[in-house]
Amino acid sequence: MLHLFDTAQGRVVPFETNEPNKVSMYVCGPTVYGPPHLGHGRFSLVFDVLRRYLEWSGYEVRYVSNITDIDDKIIDRAQREGRPWQDITTKCESIWFKAMDGIGVKRPTVTPHATEYVERMVELIAELLASDKAYETSDGVYLDCSTVPGYGLLARQSLDSLLAGARVEGSDEKRNPTDFALWKKAKPGEPTWPAPWGDGRPGWHTECVVMSLDLLGEGFDLHGGGQDLAFPHHENERAQAIAVGKTFARHWAHNGFVEVEGEKMSKSLGNFTNLLDLLDRHDGRAYRMLVLRSHYRSPVEVTEATIADAERSLDRLDAFARRSLELVDAATVADPATMEQFRRAMDDDLNTAGALDQLFRAVRSANTALDAEDDATAAALAAAVREMCRAFGLALREEDSGGPPVEVLILAEQRAAARAAKDFGAADRIRSELSSLGWLVEDSPQGPQLRRKG
Ligand SMILES: [Zn+2]
Repeated sequence: MLHLFDTAQGRVVPFETNEPNKVSMYVCGPTVYGPPHLGHGRFSLVFDVLRRYLEWSGYEVRYVSNITDIDDKIIDRAQREGRPWQDITTKCESIWFKAMDGIGVKRPTVTPHATEYVERMVELIAELLASDKAYETSDGVYLDCSTVPGYGLLARQSLDSLLAGARVEGSDEKRNPTDFALWKKAKPGEPTWPAPWGDGRPGWHTECVVMSLDLLGEGFDLHGGGQDLAFPHHENERAQAIAVGKTFARHWAHNGFVEVEGEKMSKSLGNFTNLLDLLDRHDGRAYRMLVLRSHYRSPVEVTEATIADAERSLDRLDAFARRSLELVDAATVADPATMEQFRRAMDDDLNTAGALDQLFRAVRSANTALDAEDDATAAALAAAVREMCRAFGLALREEDSGGPPVEVLILAEQRAAARAAKDFGAADRIRSELSSLGWLVEDSPQGPQLRRKG
């Protein structure tokens, strides 16, 4: 049985679900106002791996992940650029899914948009106002956190200690520094929705609590997101549910941060500016491999060097997949001892690094068996390798893709010449041309290397 670290309980607990063999989970999605960054890639991959592992284990997973399409950042950008805000959210959402496809993240079962749920949010706020758990100020409506029993659960702090450490943000009419806006009354030029206490828009925390409860029901199984969301975002989602007497998420899971080397995010330091940049230069599976290598609650370092290293692991896997292609058919039984070790690692708070050890151990043993012409042993291990990759959501390249075509080789040479002449603009243009042909070029100590995109 899967055990997961539950943020609310502060320890690893058995992952219990309301219904046998079914999981309902909500993962906070992006606010669509710019390109997805590396942190977005990580949470998406972590929860995609969890979802796929659950599905592989036989669960039917209802995975809801929202799009926040109304927010201060969207309005700021629209005003700065003099564009309609919908123009920004529509474009950024399509870029988001392009990036998710690029890293192989399955589409959610449902992708609710905050703007589709504003009426329901108004209803929730009205209920909170009616019961005096919320109050109106000149700029909006706020939740009174002192009325919520157990506020501070996800912060793992009491309300008193949170209050002692809180900075006062937002309205100075707030009753407690931790109180937060459920509704923001409109300022001139902002998009608005009608509400009895003044037109405006919902606060972010109100969006997620309404969408998750609406689509998954009370006491849904798991709420997830990046570590930075536990407090205040998730705390405040939960507070609203509790305040109207509803049971909120049964389990809480949060993933660790992304680290980049050096102080500045710059290409010259070997860093990526965002997820699209990473996908432009590397195999889309490499980030997943990197995420699998570290524990989901630990930080992960995403640099040219760590991504290139992950690609070398993928090369080993692909080479093995091709070598063992003829060995495995539908009737081949995966090596039971390997699968047992794999499950044990995954069930131990999603120890993907330990599970990955089993994968590469199986590859090594299978190669040894193949060298010794022990096809039966090799086949069982090769079937185990395929099973584990399926559970990880890691696609294997079984076909030999062959070398790059001549026009690609010529472009690569032209790019090398442009770089040698320090004409980096031309080099970048050729790189995108190669990318549009389906090839990535990577500069390694051995010179430029071509790789098929995936
Ligand atoms: Zn959220």
